[in-house]
Amino acid sequence: MIKIKENYSLDDRTTFGVRATAEAWAEAGTTGELMEAVEAAKERGWPLHVLGGGSNVILMSRVPGLVLHPVFHGIRREAEKDGTLIVAGASEALDRLVRTSIEWGLGGLENLAAIPGTVAGAVVQNAGAYGLEIAERLAWCRALDTETGKERVFTTEECDFGYRSSFFKTEAGKRFIILEAAFRLPARWTPVIAYKELALAFGGKDSDAATPAAVEAKVREIRAAKLPDPRETGSAGSFFKNPVVAKLKARELITLHPSLVTYPLAGGRAKLAAGWLIDAAGLKGYAEEKVGIWPKHALILVNRGGAAGEDVLRFAHEVRDRVERRFGVELEPEPVIMGAGWDD
Ligand SMILES: Cc1cc2nc3c(=O)[nH]c(=O)nc-3n(C[C@H](O)[C@H](O)[C@H](O)COP(=O)(O)OP(=O)(O)OC[C@H]3O[C@@H](n4cnc5c(N)ncnc54)[C@H](O)[C@@H]3O)c2cc1C
Repeated sequence: MIKIKENYSLDDRTTFGVRATAEAWAEAGTTGELMEAVEAAKERGWPLHVLGGGSNVILMSRVPGLVLHPVFHGIRREAEKDGTLIVAGASEALDRLVRTSIEWGLGGLENLAAIPGTVAGAVVQNAGAYGLEIAERLAWCRALDTETGKERVFTTEECDFGYRSSFFKTEAGKRFIILEAAFRLPARWTPVIAYKELALAFGGKDSDAATPAAVEAKVREIRAAKLPDPRETGSAGSFFKNPVVAKLKARELITLHPSLVTYPLAGGRAKLAAGWLIDAAGLKGYAEEKVGIWPKHALILVNRGGAAGEDVLRFAHEVRDRVERRFGVELEPEPVIMGAGWDD
């Protein structure tokens, strides 16, 4: 029987470390338990939220409804004709999956080293770093349909991945709880090192020095130098997505601000570096009492001590508004906001 705990403290459940209480909380290690929790929430009229490693969520002080924490572990490998599949339970830490694959001599996931959170959270958010996204390695994932109680396997196409998004973030996708995910690792590994700092370190694709373990170590080193360590400083990683603008707007901005960092997209549209916009709006290192911008990385908002989700949202709105006033571009948050909407 599943245990449902009411008025449950979520203070230690997210990397941002905001103070929060869930109306109800349950942990489930089988699909039967997941469905029991779903039924209980339906009976009581509670909204249902799924929480993995809590590294990409901002919780409001009181989260109404049931916060459900899946606990599905295990990592195994399956040989395939063109490589190897590595299959991981939804709740495995993504970083453990990366380490395990390297220990097994399998390259392909090393660029994702040291991203906090679980395998399922990484699939939902299409996590990515240093030139690689989950979407490029996922073979399939298995999920529970909370409306029918049946399991369904999703192909990569069905996951409908986008920039930090997937089908599972849409209204239609929210009824699925991911149980496990399989990653296809290439039979003939080649390093993904076009990203500036990696290219500098390894000096080209043919470099003998670029082994999976060496790329993994370098990624960890680069990350440690510029990102806050979640054990010391609360954050959710990048707070804002890089905004995508239409061709005309991109041209206008580049003419006015030649140093603006942009990434060209199909059809003349452009993705703008949100960090550049924040810095150029005069917000470099900007901080209030409880929330601030991480001095080494303009996209990261940090908990300076005792912040609640409401403080984080207020601060983030201020950043968004200042960037919009200066550049006419609207920033959107990357983390999922639980217990309120972004514009509430
Ligand atoms: C210091 C730091 C650095 C970071 N660096 C990066 C980075 O380089 N690249 C990057 O992409 N991200 C980064 N992040 C963000 C974060 O680590 C990733 O988005 C991570 O993949 C989220 O996983 P999680 O388990 O913590 O998900 P959570 O935060 O728990 O949840 C995220 C979303 O997934 C849903 N979810 C979780 N589990 C399930 C499930 N089993 N079934 C269905 N839905 C589920 C939740 O409902 C929520 O909508 C960083 C965060 C921090 C704190």
